[in-house]
Amino acid sequence: MCEASGRCGGCGEAPVRRRAAPACSRPRPCVKCGDGPAAVVIRIGDAFCRACFREYFVHKFRAMLGKNRVIFPGEKVLLALSGGMASSAMLRQVQEGLSRETAKRLRFVPGLIYIDAAAAVPTEGAVCGQSLVQREQTLTRMEALLQETGFPYYLASLEQALELPGSILRRGPGGDSEPSPSYKAAVEGFIQQQRQEEANGDGGTSPAGLGTQDGPAGGSHAHLPAAARTEELLRLFDAAETLTAKEELLQMLRSHLLLHTARTQGYTKVMTGESCTRVAIKLLTNLALGRGAFLAVDTTPAHLQGFVDSRHGDVTVVRPMRDYMAKEIAFYNHFFGVPTVITPPLHAKRREKTSIHRLMENFLLGLQVDFPSTISTVYRTGEKLSVAPAESNGELQRCLLCLCALDIAGEEELALEPTLVKEDTGNGAESRAAFIPLLCYSCRLTFKEMGPPATLPPYVRTEAQRRNCRALMKQQIQEFLLEDDEEEPGGS
Ligand SMILES: [Zn+2]
Ligand SMILES: [Zn+2]
Repeated sequence: MCEASGRCGGCGEAPVRRRAAPACSRPRPCVKCGDGPAAVVIRIGDAFCRACFREYFVHKFRAMLGKNRVIFPGEKVLLALSGGMASSAMLRQVQEGLSRETAKRLRFVPGLIYIDAAAAVPTEGAVCGQSLVQREQTLTRMEALLQETGFPYYLASLEQALELPGSILRRGPGGDSEPSPSYKAAVEGFIQQQRQEEANGDGGTSPAGLGTQDGPAGGSHAHLPAAARTEELLRLFDAAETLTAKEELLQMLRSHLLLHTARTQGYTKVMTGESCTRVAIKLLTNLALGRGAFLAVDTTPAHLQGFVDSRHGDVTVVRPMRDYMAKEIAFYNHFFGVPTVITPPLHAKRREKTSIHRLMENFLLGLQVDFPSTISTVYRTGEKLSVAPAESNGELQRCLLCLCALDIAGEEELALEPTLVKEDTGNGAESRAAFIPLLCYSCRLTFKEMGPPATLPPYVRTEAQRRNCRALMKQQIQEFLLEDDEEEPGGS
């Protein structure tokens, strides 16, 4: 695949500082072009020169998108950026893909979003003084980075999740359409339209309608949210009893905020930057969290083997970086100057145990050091899982928090968490017990550690109340209904 062997020679600077790649302290030739000095060893025996590594990296991204055919030409795609390694590399791939010559160009319309979650990670003590200054600095750096791309972008803060509507916990319309045949037609139509525009000479529009600044939609400027909101968010995280629950909470709020931005700004796809390493860690974490039933959805969703997550119906999450190892991404960013803005992870309080997420990460990365195929093995195993047919059924009852199909039939719940149910049944809809039937097995476990319902985000409480009201109504009219729904087990 190395197109011109001459090119690899051209990039032949020093084969990287020894510290970065000890494997090639004596440069051997690239296995692809046999010409340039090897700069990075990807798998054992596969040493690439810089130029070939770049080709390989870019090709992988395009191949992932090409193979899956879910992103239509002209479609609005929201890139979720964290400032970290993987999502920054993803952004660079999109930039490169859009600037290529017509034949090989990516044809979707990107927008960017950064969710500032600093409020969830208060530095020692309080949300004041130094930590506020730091937060503002990170935000300013991130905004500069987004601005530079020329793409429309949104800056959101985790605090905004507190204002989400309850409807975010409902599945949107659509979703499981057959992508393949219509995809081809869409591409052809798009190319034809572009040719026509070129022939007409109205060059004014940039490729794929880029460069238009959407303006400050959704609060697009680097300023911090009101202190009261931050405090409310802090209370929410403080109430969570374990670091595992905090991690889950953070991921939940973040994904709902992403979904909301996508819906309100007209994006039908969201791209996230989980690497293969991330996917493998998530897979084991989910297993440990009792999410066995959803492994396939969280990590290898839908019929498209993990690239696509369509649990929300109208907005699909795609993970184009899931074939890359974290190490590859780090090399790529280092070689080609991809900027990152690193934000601190959640801290354990002094007496708190670490989270399952962190344990799994350490475990896997530790194994990976001695057994370099650990992560890819876990990842490949995950690929073999397939989503249960029930998942594509839009009518199914869905978990309040994760929107996966409920894996527990109505009667089991009482047996499952007797202590939880006994705890505070007196308080009507706001009691913990009222939430239990709405949650899947795994979310029940997390929910138990999330603190009292009164500190939960308002949109979660609103939607829980709505669902409980409906369930109650259904129960009340039940006795007037003829019993014919025994024929359809599993129906809502
Ligand atoms: Zn080469
Ligand atoms: Zn759930």
